[in-house]
Amino acid sequence: MFKKILIANRGEIAVRIIRTCRILGIKTVAVYSEADQHAVHVYEADESYLLGGARVAESYLKIEKIIEIAKRSKTEAIHPGYGLLSENAEFARRCEEAGLVFIGPSSEVISVMGSKIEARKQMEKAGVPVVPGITRSLANEEEAINAAEKLGYPVILKASAGGGGIGMQVVQNADELRKTFEGNQKRAADFFGNGDLFIEKYLKNPRHIEIQILADLFGNTVYLWERECSVQRRHQKVLEEAPSAFLDESTRQKMGEAAVMAAKSIGYQSAGTVEFLVDEEKNFYFLEMNTRLQVEHPVTEEITGLDLVEQQLRIAAGEPLGFHQREVKRDGHAIEVRIYAEDPRTFFPSPGTIKELFLPDGEGIRNEVGVSRQSVVTPFYDPMIAKLIAKGITRVEAIERMQEALSHYKVTGIKTNIPLLLQVVKHEAFRNGNTTTDFIAKYLQVKK
Ligand code: ADP
Repeated sequence: MFKKILIANRGEIAVRIIRTCRILGIKTVAVYSEADQHAVHVYEADESYLLGGARVAESYLKIEKIIEIAKRSKTEAIHPGYGLLSENAEFARRCEEAGLVFIGPSSEVISVMGSKIEARKQMEKAGVPVVPGITRSLANEEEAINAAEKLGYPVILKASAGGGGIGMQVVQNADELRKTFEGNQKRAADFFGNGDLFIEKYLKNPRHIEIQILADLFGNTVYLWERECSVQRRHQKVLEEAPSAFLDESTRQKMGEAAVMAAKSIGYQSAGTVEFLVDEEKNFYFLEMNTRLQVEHPVTEEITGLDLVEQQLRIAAGEPLGFHQREVKRDGHAIEVRIYAEDPRTFFPSPGTIKELFLPDGEGIRNEVGVSRQSVVTPFYDPMIAKLIAKGITRVEAIERMQEALSHYKVTGIKTNIPLLLQVVKHEAFRNGNTTTDFIAKYLQVKK
């Protein structure tokens, strides 16, 4: 096992990775920006190094500097967390070249899966069902209209390099497509450095259900069941749970096997997530693969009893998986909510200084937090400041515990989305398991 690793991230995920390292006796090196000098992850790590200015381009995205610090501090491996450089193939390649272990899959695999078009091609080849669509870059609006007519409207126009719910647009007809195509192409080029667009059929009220997989360096690949992430706002996840209230055993197994097949077909190693959309008839379609640890990994940890960061570290250190598929347990029900520093009326980020922070506790409650009292939430980074996870024997128990915990959660000095989260968990449709991706838009109106 490694003796020392560098964590190229910040916030709750950096703190969470440090926790597992401490259990395993691994020393940790934190990196931080000028705005994060007093951030929790800096205090939690064994060593910490300043990267540069507050903006991510001046700090957390500085590949050269991060590698130099890793070498200087004599670390053996780098954990990229999620977001930031975690799916940057160039970063993984530079780590490989510098003789540092990148805790994740190979740079080639990141590169293939980082392109939604390439990923679809690979999955089609491997026989994994993909969302009906046109698997090539569309040169212009005429090509897009021809393609859309073959699929039938509505369609969703997507940036091949897009992510985080950004770079997608639902299009109802040829007129709309004609008007928006060029603008989307330009935006994709500006935002992601790649203007390739493709289209998929826009599925009506699907569910977002994803499969967590683990693959070691010896060809052993297992799936750790599913997470349902249908509660979303503007195509971004808000609440996730495991297991899904919708799946039956046979579909669960088929999806798990398809995810393993997907991972094997590209020579995947490390923890990864194969995302699917599932329609009302329980047909499932490959959406994309995330080649990193997901924000919502704790719900899988809660039901399987596994520590996914530990598994990533063991795999990266060259250990074989310590268990077989049939030994992966599934016990109870877990729900996670993402706590954002945002105005619940406008959904705009709400930067400021946290005055009070009271974290709820109790049976089945887990907190993942990247801030403390007096922490300054700046506009420079993702506004997600914490996650709250509730586990119960049944889904009902997990919901009750989540509602109780949320109603005692206290953050002052900034605004948070806690009122919205409470509305979700109290809602009858959610309680009945009727959570399709339009849940928030359809049911919720946050009070002023
Ligand atoms: P990103 O990489 O930006 O997260 P995804 O392709 O993973 O984008 O999609 C994010 C969400 O957008 C999905 O969970 C779903 O709610 C919605 N979505 C994406 N593609 C489709 C589609 N073809 N039909 C219906 N909804 C979709």
